[in-house]
Amino acid sequence: MSDKAIRQIVIVGGGTAGWMTAAPLAQKLGKACEIVLIESPEIGTVGVGEATLPTIRYYNQALGLDAADFIKKTQATFKLGTEFRDWGHVGSRFFHAFGNFGPMIESRPAYMYWLRLKRDVKDMPSYEEWSTADAMSRAHRFVPPYGDQPSVTNSYSYGFQFDASLYAAYLRDYAVARGVTRIEGMVVDVEQHPETGFVTAVKLRDGRRFEGDLFVDCTGFRALLLEGVYKAGYEDWSAMLPCNSAQAMPCTNPDGPLVPYTRSTAQSAGWTWRIPLQHRMGNGHVYCDGFTTDAEATRVLEGVLEGAAIDAPRQLRFTPGRRRKSWIKNCVGVGLSTGFIEPLESTSINMIEMTVGWIVQFFPDRDCSPALADEFNRLLSQRYEYIRDFIILHYKLTNRDDSEFWRYCRNMAVPDILQHQIDLFRDSSRVAILDQQGFLEDSWVSILMGHGIFPEKNDPFIDLMDPGYLLDHFHKVRDSIRRAVDAMPDHAAFVKHVVGDD
Ligand code: FAD
Repeated sequence: MSDKAIRQIVIVGGGTAGWMTAAPLAQKLGKACEIVLIESPEIGTVGVGEATLPTIRYYNQALGLDAADFIKKTQATFKLGTEFRDWGHVGSRFFHAFGNFGPMIESRPAYMYWLRLKRDVKDMPSYEEWSTADAMSRAHRFVPPYGDQPSVTNSYSYGFQFDASLYAAYLRDYAVARGVTRIEGMVVDVEQHPETGFVTAVKLRDGRRFEGDLFVDCTGFRALLLEGVYKAGYEDWSAMLPCNSAQAMPCTNPDGPLVPYTRSTAQSAGWTWRIPLQHRMGNGHVYCDGFTTDAEATRVLEGVLEGAAIDAPRQLRFTPGRRRKSWIKNCVGVGLSTGFIEPLESTSINMIEMTVGWIVQFFPDRDCSPALADEFNRLLSQRYEYIRDFIILHYKLTNRDDSEFWRYCRNMAVPDILQHQIDLFRDSSRVAILDQQGFLEDSWVSILMGHGIFPEKNDPFIDLMDPGYLLDHFHKVRDSIRRAVDAMPDHAAFVKHVVGDD
């Protein structure tokens, strides 16, 4: 082993990011390195972050977590995507499903065939009838995708909705069992090497001191090391992402089905979320404080609750954007310390998964090569910008003009690359895929068509195909979806079956 090998890792912060960092590091390096995690119960955690993307499954699998145990301990439910209400216009609805609209034909995505048919067939049914996930959501049914060949039973994917504090506790137990030392205390001072500027130790208010070779900043919006010590700077995206406030307010589960999706409903100065868990319903209102007041935001949130409130509303503030650098010298950030776009589309835990993956991939020695840090920073910035543009799309495309907030969103300037995406789709029905690890083509198309953007021209290859053949194919797919979904169990029953509460 090199004499420059990292032997001591100090993670500051024990929210979702801190424990999602500690768990894989303990799994992979628990025997070679001493890993310490310091968290301050006095400061606490953000404590929200209940909805995820399908990639969470790969993160859990890589840790070797037992899926049924995880679902039981975190009160998780299955998530097929997000239902959007009132975004395009008041009364509109569309479903952004994980996965594809339907099986590809001739290597082209199903939505292109639907567009072709829409042009020629009178009363063409909605493209959503080609989405297995949408049909499952409407019928509140769930089974995991099945089969190897492209078919209606595997054209969808799924993530989870869970209690974020239970998930952090679950990973804490995992990490501690693999050797991570958990310390309760508040970091009040940071020591640096006088010449290199590397962080050498952090000091707690009670006088304890922890030395390290590598420090991970998981201190949330505070960014204690990245900003507090290194003044990394923050790129503020508020002009394109106006929401900067949120209130979270869980309630009891209402009577009625346990649906396998998150709902996002546009409101006059933002949107509300509804995330069904086994033991309660997560609710929140994300809004811009320049277009409404906190009191009015509470009134809106209370108005959408379907069960009895469990807590008073919890107020949160954030600045949409990213830290200019998230790896500086021997300090690397994970989670909210590196930035936050906003809660829409549940991308923040996914960013944590990616960031932790890159730390493992670019794991340094004690010199912490600046080139490694540059590459990490480049990838993270690219990823943040890609997701930023996808989220802006939801606001920019609205047809709503019933409030100042929506008028602002319709008219705001957007990044050139996003405008290119919108123009490209309008003109040619194509989407430029900029990063295979982000939201894929069908996701972009969901948001575009969900907001009523239908291209002027079709794919020329598909234009040459016989519409009779395509219509026949469409009906066959729709019928197989109906049959497949009818045979699936109810989502609540499936969750019960998994956790063994039959
Ligand atoms: P925090 O939870 O803030 O944790 C910070 C930790 O640092 C705490 O343990 C704290 O005690 C510690 N700390 C801070 N300072 C010190 C100090 N001086 N000494 C010692 N310890 C210290 N993400 C999703 O993926 N899906 C969602 O649905 C979603 N919804 C969200 C809704 C809202 C309104 C918000 C604001 C965020 C949402 N997120 C969501 C983001 C998600 O909550 C975060 O990505 C996730 O919780 C990670 O937070 P964190 O661990 O970085 O920060």
